[in-house]
Amino acid sequence: MSQDLLHRFSFFAAPIRGQWVRLDSVLDELLARQDYPPSVKVLLSEMMAAVSLMADGIKFQGAVALQSRGSGPVTTALAECRDQELLRGIARWEGTIPDSYNQQTSAEDPTTHYGELTDLIGEGRMAITLTPSRHAQGGAMDLNSYQGVVSLERGSLAENLETYFANSEQLPTRLFFAFSRDTVTGLLLQRLPAPDNATEVELEYQRALWREIDILASTLRPEELAVLPVETLLRRLFNEHVLTLQPGRPLKFSCTCSRERAQSMLQALPKEEILELLETQGMVDVTCEICGARYEYDQLHTHLIYEADEPPIH
Ligand SMILES: [Zn+2]
Repeated sequence: MSQDLLHRFSFFAAPIRGQWVRLDSVLDELLARQDYPPSVKVLLSEMMAAVSLMADGIKFQGAVALQSRGSGPVTTALAECRDQELLRGIARWEGTIPDSYNQQTSAEDPTTHYGELTDLIGEGRMAITLTPSRHAQGGAMDLNSYQGVVSLERGSLAENLETYFANSEQLPTRLFFAFSRDTVTGLLLQRLPAPDNATEVELEYQRALWREIDILASTLRPEELAVLPVETLLRRLFNEHVLTLQPGRPLKFSCTCSRERAQSMLQALPKEEILELLETQGMVDVTCEICGARYEYDQLHTHLIYEADEPPIH
């Protein structure tokens, strides 16, 4: 049974949409590839949940990526969702991440936080990039990828993304993340534009409903978001509203790297360089820049690579 699911839901009475995502085995794969400090782990996991939600909201075949750059100890963090389904990501940091950034979990609240986002990323920003996949590009389509910029103020990733949605897309949005025991859960609520023919009375009703939903959502505690099944969570928050919950859509960890691709990277390097590395280290390795997977080649492997490269001698 996959624990990595994304559900959409909508409110019967107003153009408000919602999404809920929980990533479990995706994080197992992601976090096994590097020994992340606790707060970096939480940040990267939240970013993975964020791209899952963003990719689901866009009718688009390709990759949606969220990448941070800043002057803080986390030099870069990247989360990417391809074709609404395939997730990968990585974070890099320098020095030690001070312990004060990690709030201790307690029995009542098992969730882990990272303090202020700017403590990790520093003065910085996050880029949202949409890159169409090759097979989805029509001949006349614009091949340039779209880029949006999330400026990072103090607070959490969720708060900074809420500001981004409000400013760049003019869509009032509430966003929540909770991380607990290597599982991340995200909840997004967004007020969609009212239909053009909506009357003033209808508009006022919808505004009031959004205010109400917003207030109800604000009562959500991280420990509830982290552990409750989506049905229970929605019932608890919005029990007086009629909601439609769609079936969950699975997500999984997947990178485009492979042993074969890593091998062609090796083949592109000067042979002398590889032989020298083999001489000094006994092996060469190629690490994927986007997921951290490590491909190792010993003397025998490398020998086979070059043998395949050279015409056989008779
Ligand atoms: Zn990879």
